Amino acid sequence: MKEKTELAHIGRRPEWTNGIVNPPVYRASTCLFEDFAAFERANRDPDAGLYYGRRGTPTHWALLEALVALEKGGAEGWLFPSGLAALSGTLLALLKAGDHLLVPDSAYGPTRHFTANILPRYGIETSFYDPLAGEGIAADFRSNTRLVLVESPGSLTFEVQDVPAIARVARAHGALVVADNTWGAGGLLCRVLELGADVSVHACTKYVVGHSDAMLGAAIARPQVADRLRTHVFATGWTAGPDDAWLALRGLRTLEVRLKRHEAQALEIARWLEERPEVERVLHPALPSCPGHEIFVRDFRGACGLFGVVLKHGRYRELAALVDGMKLFRMGFSWGGFESLILPVDPAPIRTVRPWPAQRALLRLHVGLEDTDDLKEDLAAALERHEAALAGGS
Ligand SMILES: *Cc1c(COP(=O)(O)O)cnc(C)c1O
Repeated sequence: MKEKTELAHIGRRPEWTNGIVNPPVYRASTCLFEDFAAFERANRDPDAGLYYGRRGTPTHWALLEALVALEKGGAEGWLFPSGLAALSGTLLALLKAGDHLLVPDSAYGPTRHFTANILPRYGIETSFYDPLAGEGIAADFRSNTRLVLVESPGSLTFEVQDVPAIARVARAHGALVVADNTWGAGGLLCRVLELGADVSVHACTKYVVGHSDAMLGAAIARPQVADRLRTHVFATGWTAGPDDAWLALRGLRTLEVRLKRHEAQALEIARWLEERPEVERVLHPALPSCPGHEIFVRDFRGACGLFGVVLKHGRYRELAALVDGMKLFRMGFSWGGFESLILPVDPAPIRTVRPWPAQRALLRLHVGLEDTDDLKEDLAAALERHEAALAGGS
């Protein structure tokens, strides 16, 4: 089946839907066994059917079947209550005391916090590497490096990573590669397992749910690591609410059309911003000004609606006039919903390997499904407010 057909049909097994189009929300803790023999059968093979709510219901299975099918090269997947839980859960499943982990300097902030500050308590050591290192990452490997995290493009700064090159080096050192593929939107924009990753982690909270109203994470693994992840996920008790799984499945059905619109509108706004006198640089992977653009062209099948804008004037502290008074681009963290968002960000204090110049004001934009004329009007007024405030303040 082609991808668009999969999006419409996958996960709708008759035994899960009972003849309606969508699998319903199965809310369950207890699942009842008919008799002693059925109880014994279930104990021998708990994954054969309903066993206990924590191991999932047809609502969860339908979503997982779809997510695994979309992330080409994936064998099995698990749901988590958030994207961050999927990431931390995957790392804990694959690492042990004494191991060393490599994390890109451009990683999602909470990922950075977990790996730098929490993992050391378990005897797991993290060091950060240049997201643009490519094969040069070999210099960062130690004798106990067991895992490399990739996140492409990077959070806030959008460096596109050479995942195939990094995966080749990792393989040569006997290390695994875990990818945060959230920007890649459930595998639709980036088939990161085919690029060499062993596990693809998604914050389904973003584009899969797509409506800013649920938290959910997923990890999709290649067959070689599926056993380790399955054992760990069940042993540690990760699970997700059936209502959230259902919202994600509902979102997935329209993911492709939404993404196409986000992509087109974000590119239109990004190109328009490039022409604005207030803008220094646009960090959009599909534009040549983005670090790693040539890798994006090689490895990605499209772009989503999230990108960065570097302003010519002002610092992070001077962005109040710009963001206060926005009509459509509102401030908030989670992106991937239908609405536009703006976030003033400052990567400078957290970077340790590839420094971000502190004097540069950076905005993260998510372009939603509104009319682009209205969005441009909102942004133009914001950029003018910003310049006026700087002129007034100097
Ligand atoms: C939002 C995000 C996460 C975390 O997902 P939550 O569902 O918010 O926990 C992880 N990685 C990236 C790149 C994200 O943008």
